[in-house]
Amino acid sequence: DKRWSLHGMTALVTGGSRGIGHAIVEELAEFGAAVHICSRNQEEINKCLEEWKSKGFNVTGSVCDVLSRDQRENLMEIVASTFHGKLNILVNNAGKATPKNIIDHTANDISTIMGTNFESGYHLCQLAHPLLKASGIGSIVFISSIAGLTALPLTSVYAASKGAMNQFTRNLALEWAKDNIRANAVAPGLVKTLLLENMMKSAAANEAVAAMKSHTPVSRVGEPKEISSLVAFLCLPAASYITGQVITADGGFTI
Ligand code: NDP
Repeated sequence: DKRWSLHGMTALVTGGSRGIGHAIVEELAEFGAAVHICSRNQEEINKCLEEWKSKGFNVTGSVCDVLSRDQRENLMEIVASTFHGKLNILVNNAGKATPKNIIDHTANDISTIMGTNFESGYHLCQLAHPLLKASGIGSIVFISSIAGLTALPLTSVYAASKGAMNQFTRNLALEWAKDNIRANAVAPGLVKTLLLENMMKSAAANEAVAAMKSHTPVSRVGEPKEISSLVAFLCLPAASYITGQVITADGGFTI
């Protein structure tokens, strides 16, 4: 059934070397897509590509710090040549969090977090537009966060970056529907990754995470695979009437 397949489709996943992005790459590849990833570490990319090759997945990768405008342009040139000018799926996943109170955020924190989490995705959409349009069926997925939907401790700028992403998702869906490009955002709750592990090095964040866990109906942190499944669904032809949505996967935390 073509509605449940990504065979013949191409995808770009930013931050595909670890965590949620890594799970998304595997999920898309299992559905038959050819995937390109980026991260800031060539060695880690190489390790991933080898592993995926042995699993029979069609994945390529290159270094790109999504915070850099030049590197984003370079990435899209590589993607265009790898996939012959056609891209079906863009997953804006690479992201950064710095658990701090509002008073403690530096000017650099604000620009780095907004740049990595929001501006990068905005610009990558602009760069990918001709490729998405040329593919005939385009799907953009942002990895947002429940922090962009509800106020959580220590997340002010991170939350603003995700909130901006959620609204941009709706504007994208409106403007690019005519090009057969859909746009959706997935808002995870707590997910077991290095990002969460690093956040929990701060005692205050650790306490906030424990409180969140105790308010989560399913009483546990999520696994990357429990996010990637939703992302893959949104990219399938089966999801062709779903656009402009922010969909939560959080074990019920926000209910
Ligand atoms: P991880 O830190 O586990 O993985 C992040 C991935 O992105 C890595 O591949 C990393 O590689 C890459 N990356 C980070 N910064 C950049 C950059 N500037 N340019 C290019 N690649 C980059 O994080 P998660 O998997 O947890 O996070 C993925 C997304 O999910 C983020 O947008 C995050 O905000 C969101 N999210 C996570 C939640 C969680 O609880 N884990 C909850 C809600 C949302 P490298 O460092 O080598 O560049």
